[in-house]
Amino acid sequence: MTADTRVALVTGSSRGIGAGIVRALAADGIRCVVNYVADPEGRNRADAESLAAETGAALVCECDVADHAAVGAMMRSIVEAVGGLDIVVANAGILRDRTLRKMTADDFRQVIDVNLGGTFNVVQHATTLLRPGGRIVTIGSVAGFQGFFGQGNYAASKAGIVALTKVAAREFARQGTTVNCVAPGFIATEILADMPADVTEKFRASIPLGRLGAVDDVVNAVTFLCSPRSGYVTGQVIHVNGGFAM
Ligand code: NDP
Repeated sequence: MTADTRVALVTGSSRGIGAGIVRALAADGIRCVVNYVADPEGRNRADAESLAAETGAALVCECDVADHAAVGAMMRSIVEAVGGLDIVVANAGILRDRTLRKMTADDFRQVIDVNLGGTFNVVQHATTLLRPGGRIVTIGSVAGFQGFFGQGNYAASKAGIVALTKVAAREFARQGTTVNCVAPGFIATEILADMPADVTEKFRASIPLGRLGAVDDVVNAVTFLCSPRSGYVTGQVIHVNGGFAM
């Protein structure tokens, strides 16, 4: 059997779902580029470097995906280090929940800039590097379909990602690149840490499968879409939410 020579970039992969995706792709023999955004304490860098050491990643890149020029620079460093890309997972995302009445323009803009703008920046720059037959997976959310209370910024960003995914699927089909979205429901990661326990319990009780999702539930859908087995799937959304929305 010949070795897998594919290279994958997973944005926002220092922890949570992104780190799970890197672990799974690396276990399949795919060389990964780990991306994180710097924080004052250096925790994200430490997490990213520890994941890279654990998985034998090809490269670790500090890059704020909301910064178009910085994403371009990250792509150039990827070309220099590993020659190109076969898989891109645009996973980086943030929450800044507030009711529309209390939401500041900055709260709105930051979430749109990281989630939707970051996905645009990464997809646009990556297409110059992706080899034929490439795979792009974006990460949406059930919030983009349901519009939860207090998530005007987040829900709008995630709904936008679905539309962007469909446009990209049409535009990149001619080079054999597929573009799909995975829309998770409630997944037990740090992003949910600020949610009050009674709210989490209320959501859990309304999930037909009776539990929050695990990182691996999302990872399994993403790795399918990254694999050769999904070659005739493009412009689609796979919902991973335990039946919460159907
Ligand atoms: P986490 O908060 O655990 O992880 C988010 C990741 O995004 C971190 O690695 C973080 O990096 C990175 N990130 C944040 N901002 C930037 C930025 N500007 N540039 C680069 N990286 C950045 O969240 P999850 O793992 O739960 O979420 C992953 C994705 O899944 C997100 O897009 C989220 O919206 C989506 N999702 C999650 C759900 C859930 O219930 N958990 C439900 C639906 C969707 P760092 O560590 O360096 O800060």
